[in-house]
Amino acid sequence: MSKNTPKAIRGTQDIFGADAESFAFVVETFERVRKLYRFRRVEMPVFEKTEVFSRAIGETTDVVSKEMYSFEDRGGDSLTLRPEFTAGIARAYLTNGWQQHAPLKVATHGPLFRYERPQKGRYRQFHQIDAEIIGAAEPQADVELLAMADQLLRELGIEGVTLNLNTLGDVASREAWRAGLIEYFSKVRGDLSEDSQERLEKNPLRILDSKDPRDKAFLADAPKIDEFLSDEALAFFENVTSGLDAAGVKWTRAESLVRGLDYYRHTAFEFIPDEGSAAADALGAQSTVLGGGRYDGLIESLGGSVTPAVGWAAGIERLAMLVGEKEAAPLHASIVPIGENGAKVAASLASFLRMHDLSVDVAFRGNMKKRMTRANDAGAFFALILGDDEIASRKVAVKNLRTGDQSLCSFDDVAVVLSEAVEGEEMARVARKFRGSGGFAGKERHPFSNY
Ligand code: ATP
Ligand code: MG
Repeated sequence: MSKNTPKAIRGTQDIFGADAESFAFVVETFERVRKLYRFRRVEMPVFEKTEVFSRAIGETTDVVSKEMYSFEDRGGDSLTLRPEFTAGIARAYLTNGWQQHAPLKVATHGPLFRYERPQKGRYRQFHQIDAEIIGAAEPQADVELLAMADQLLRELGIEGVTLNLNTLGDVASREAWRAGLIEYFSKVRGDLSEDSQERLEKNPLRILDSKDPRDKAFLADAPKIDEFLSDEALAFFENVTSGLDAAGVKWTRAESLVRGLDYYRHTAFEFIPDEGSAAADALGAQSTVLGGGRYDGLIESLGGSVTPAVGWAAGIERLAMLVGEKEAAPLHASIVPIGENGAKVAASLASFLRMHDLSVDVAFRGNMKKRMTRANDAGAFFALILGDDEIASRKVAVKNLRTGDQSLCSFDDVAVVLSEAVEGEEMARVARKFRGSGGFAGKERHPFSNY
């Protein structure tokens, strides 16, 4: 590097090594889980017309008012690098006529951009996984999304994170609550933070989310949504909570949880680390790992007809910080060629085994001892040793690096022998997982065992 080597942009990350493995583990686990819930994959553009976000998310939100990367392109259009997925997916739902697939369950992941002050767990280019159900008014949709989020966190091995759940009511309840909050906070206006004085007119619900001690003093006594809930809104919320109980999803009521975006109705939620948990220590002040809710008004704000929908997003970096170090994908075999013909036959054997879905490395550097050490260090199940004698008899020496056993195997059989051994490992993994979860009889019984 010299003095004139360009620097990376502030708030971006170059992710490598253990962090990259954790990142990939989060994405792979999400991909696996979303398939269990039958969410279809979508790929979305990284930029949209600015109005997609300003209209959908709301002009008064932090995201739109101060965090967007907007620019004029060469054709004079105002474009914005996506600060979230939902608005773009809603736009696509309308412009592609995806209504025909409703209720549409989609999932995606990728980079997002927000002009924020970079710090631990907060970047200007960050990444999210995202799941949405569009065109479903039923509380079962909320339950399914939350069950998926809950299972995802379990599969990631993340503990000490709790689902904080609230309802913002339907439009009528929310408006009545809003009026109640304006009345309450107006009386103490002068004692609120500057930000909250401004929010008072534009977005009084956001005061409840304030971290400023001057505001916090008034939060406990602020009017609660429950005082304003219509019968329908209450029934909806009860359907969500009883569905969560049946699905075995633990939750806690968070009466003052509101989300930062304007479009939410009914269900709003965040998965937040419990105080004093390892997860809370790892994340520090950036506490929300996954958040979302119902956004029944969003599609209308983009000119669509009334379309109920619900979704969530989670920061991949924050999840990756909680999963700890992950091993790279298993290495099934390391080929150790020795002698004249070794290199060529090794290349051939490696390609043959990879076509059989086995992961293979070729140790082509250093002496025999170094090569074996590397195979061991890489955690390979097997070392496949190819010396001139073995090659002459169309055989390979197969050394099981776990047990130290070594035997000769013919070229014709080696793929089958390795596949069976690897399959044995895989079956053992599944069995361990089932036993680990306690099946039906374990310490944490699944509610299904009561039916
Ligand atoms: P916060 O309150 O932390 O700013 P938010 O409400 O702005 O979060 P959402 O828009 O709901 O966040 O995005 C969902 C998730 O995306 C967050 O819970 C977090 O995990 C992640 N996230 C949001 N902004 C960033 C960022 N700048 N850097 C890294 N992750 C982020
Ligand atoms: Mg934010």
